[in-house]
Amino acid sequence: MKNLNYDVAIIGAGMVGATLASLLSRSGFSVALVEALEPQAFDADADVGLRVSAISPGSSAVLDQAGAWKLISAQRVRPYRRMQVEDGVELDPLLFDAPVFNLESLGTIVENALLQWSVWKVVTTGGLVDVYCPDSIEGMELCGEKNRVVLKSGNVLNASLVVGADGAASRVRKLIGVGQDHHAYNQHGLVAVVGKQKPNPGVAWQRFLAGGPLAFLPLVDGRSSVVWTRPSAEAERLMAMDTKTFSSELDEASSGWLGRVVSVGPRASFPLSMRLSKCYASQRTVLMGDAAHVVHPLAGQGVNLGFADAAALTESLIAVRLAGGDIGSTTVLHKYDRWRRSESETMAFAMHALHSLFGIESLSPLRRVGLLMVKRSWAIRDLFLQRAAGVAKNAPKLARGVTLRELMQP
Ligand SMILES: Cc1cc2nc3c(=O)[nH]c(=O)nc-3n(C[C@H](O)[C@H](O)[C@H](O)COP(=O)(O)OP(=O)(O)OC[C@H]3O[C@@H](n4cnc5c(N)ncnc54)[C@H](O)[C@@H]3O)c2cc1C
Repeated sequence: MKNLNYDVAIIGAGMVGATLASLLSRSGFSVALVEALEPQAFDADADVGLRVSAISPGSSAVLDQAGAWKLISAQRVRPYRRMQVEDGVELDPLLFDAPVFNLESLGTIVENALLQWSVWKVVTTGGLVDVYCPDSIEGMELCGEKNRVVLKSGNVLNASLVVGADGAASRVRKLIGVGQDHHAYNQHGLVAVVGKQKPNPGVAWQRFLAGGPLAFLPLVDGRSSVVWTRPSAEAERLMAMDTKTFSSELDEASSGWLGRVVSVGPRASFPLSMRLSKCYASQRTVLMGDAAHVVHPLAGQGVNLGFADAAALTESLIAVRLAGGDIGSTTVLHKYDRWRRSESETMAFAMHALHSLFGIESLSPLRRVGLLMVKRSWAIRDLFLQRAAGVAKNAPKLARGVTLRELMQP
């Protein structure tokens, strides 16, 4: 059994926690990373996984500084240059094209298994991070300027700062007594890999239907990863039906887009909710990723917010160390809490408002007025896109292309 001292102890090596571990260790901090389950190795010969994420340019810049983007982009990923949003009733689609925003691409579709495995590989082979796996957190108490973390294995980690990156059911959040606002959408996100008559030309396509949005995200082989949000009972019905019936329902919902459905892989569905922690930092502990916030996936922002959390904390800790300060001080915690909570609450409520607007019965005048506002207001479009691309003004510097080396210069 060990009793060791670290600058930072991170609980949870999901996509977000492992990325943070890499960023901090590359910045010279001593880091412990605790994970309950080792991720499965990514198998490039297996079919495309059901879970994919739309990774913004800001997030890929962060992953690059974490040393993972080279591994990820060498595999089957699909950048997309256009986002097409339709309301499914009558209006012309809303188009977002990368060159209009001086971007090479609006994002890249990456399988979660590839993301997860790449960041895990970086932290476990780099020799800079002490990884405790399989292990989990049992308890935590403040001891002077350290947080004393007791693991299930009996090991004890004394850290100036503890990070809870342990997902939506975060044990760390419970240990520091932080509550959450929780809204269940009574909807499920149904996912499947789908082929249409014409290959997806690299467009992230989304149609807002009365029961919830339907998205086709481009994959490298011309198929699309479908995320179809439906009321829970309806999603259950779609999950239970045979492939032929499912294909014809999907045809109807996506009519006019790339022809008919020609192939459908296995399906899975996930309950959707919004969960916002009342506070992101307390008692030498910060929360990030899904441990801090879960948002509706309609704009594919969940893990992007988490990568921004990791980048923001890294930037703050480097600045504090340069100034000779304490990385677990209340000043650091307050700054992180204000910055990240306002960012993710803005995103969560924007998604919530869009979800409510498009959820209104299709021919309602209110829905049409809302859609026209979104279409006509370049300010709204820009805001949406800047956030989606991770290039908003208050985005962390790492998401705007600044390197760790530059951040570390006095
Ligand atoms: C249908 C759907 C589609 C989505 N699409 C997108 C998208 O296109 N783009 C996007 O950005 N986001 C998307 N999201 C959201 C995204 O998947 C999540 O935001 C993301 O997975 C959260 O990552 P995380 O690392 O914070 O948490 P997790 O992935 O939950 O990782 C938490 C880690 O902590 C570990 N852990 C848990 N408890 C303990 C403990 N006590 N001790 C030690 N370890 C522990 C777990 O084993 C796990 O490895 C989508 C979500 C859904 C449901």
